[in-house]
Amino acid sequence: MIAVPAARDSVGTEGLLVPFDEANRQLIAAVRPHGWVNPQSRGVYDLVVIGGGTAGLVSAVGAARLGARVALIERGFLGGDCLLTGCVPSKALLRSARAIGEVRRAGGMGIRVGDFEADFESIMRRMRERRAEISAHDSVQRVQQAGVAVLFGHGRFTADRAIEVDGQRLTFNRAIIATGSRPATPPVRGLDQLPYLTSETVFSLTELPRRLLVIGGGPIGCELAQAFARFGSAVTVFDVAPRVLPNDDADAASIVHRRLASDGVTFHLGVKLTEVIQEDGTLVVRYEHPTGVSQATGDRLLVAAGRAPNVDGLDLDIAGVAVSNDGMRWRASPFRMRCSWDGAAPRRSSFPGAPIRIPKWRTSARTAATPGSGAGASRPSRSRSATSIARSSTTKLRASCASTTIAAACWAPRLSPRMPAI
Ligand SMILES: Cc1cc2nc3c(=O)[nH]c(=O)nc-3n(C[C@H](O)[C@H](O)[C@H](O)COP(=O)(O)OP(=O)(O)OC[C@H]3O[C@@H](n4cnc5c(N)ncnc54)[C@H](O)[C@@H]3O)c2cc1C
Repeated sequence: MIAVPAARDSVGTEGLLVPFDEANRQLIAAVRPHGWVNPQSRGVYDLVVIGGGTAGLVSAVGAARLGARVALIERGFLGGDCLLTGCVPSKALLRSARAIGEVRRAGGMGIRVGDFEADFESIMRRMRERRAEISAHDSVQRVQQAGVAVLFGHGRFTADRAIEVDGQRLTFNRAIIATGSRPATPPVRGLDQLPYLTSETVFSLTELPRRLLVIGGGPIGCELAQAFARFGSAVTVFDVAPRVLPNDDADAASIVHRRLASDGVTFHLGVKLTEVIQEDGTLVVRYEHPTGVSQATGDRLLVAAGRAPNVDGLDLDIAGVAVSNDGMRWRASPFRMRCSWDGAAPRRSSFPGAPIRIPKWRTSARTAATPGSGAGASRPSRSRSATSIARSSTTKLRASCASTTIAAACWAPRLSPRMPAI
């Protein structure tokens, strides 16, 4: 199952990049070159970024371009979710799904189209090729060329200004926690006994499931449901909420619902899943609905029921950061800090070694990270900093994917009198 020798020490990345074909080889060579040796740490870094996904890459490269001495730590592959298991592969599949929709509607536009067939293998190969092409933008080479020291391995705090990775201790003035999130597992009896798919593994499928069961009618569940329905799967979506996209505008959600239904997707909304089992090779999802109990069967199960923040094993408490279901906050801080990358934007851009001062109005919206919500104060800022640069990806994050939780924080202790030293 593990086909990624260069990333065996990573957490949660096994099986991500299969099949191990030319496209995936090219991708891995770009974002986690085989035989990579971490550079030796050189004194105190101005900025250490943990997590080489969208937020981490933008922060690290941006800060380095401003002259900061930056180290970027990634335990899996540079590019993170967006490149490997999120935006890029999903939008590649949706592009093929859209083409199918166009062909189906062609008759109504006066174009006669003969019989056609979706070739799942070719669709997935195209997705892998697009992903490999795009990986150049997130490559180790590009990040290094920007002056960032790239270190692979699991990063964790060992002191309020020190992080350990792969046996090395890096000391820093500032750190950004951009460790992202992963698919959450809903508490459904039997789920932990079954080999279900998530957004981390669905893009490695090589065979189209004849019947696909999807737990979760959020953005990820809906987009994949539509794609697979158009490819030819019989798709059934379950959600505890009474409508799809429960966190989004109701009118927009109803358009999405109607369109997916017209693509052949079956919905069971407002239901409570009670059990998932496997009987003679068939997956059975049992659920309660207002008028009784029912079940649905399928060949593969996709779980897209929310996200969990990647905060385990970071030893955030050592860094003085407390994590709860409401988000992250400074243990010693008198106020909660909601998601705002504006908060730590420095007044001046002469980053290396310079004392950083923050305009007073920004200090109350200091630090990022609200696993699960991502809402927060935000004021426009013209200042450029690692943190303000990271804001673009945060904004994208908030705007585009309601079910994606955010686990990224800008860590900048001792920046103002209102931020107690840890
Ligand atoms: C199916 C799907 C479709 C999506 N579609 C879109 C879309 O169309 N548009 C859009 O804007 N967004 C989309 N998203 C959301 C988008 O992918 C995420 O918002 C984005 O990737 C988040 O970036 P990030 O840098 O915060 O986290 P990530 O990309 O998750 O990166 C975090 C990185 O941190 C690393 N890491 C974690 N812990 C440690 C540690 N202790 N040490 C070292 N490294 C660590 C991880 O390995 C990972 O590479 C989609 C997501 C999914 C799942």
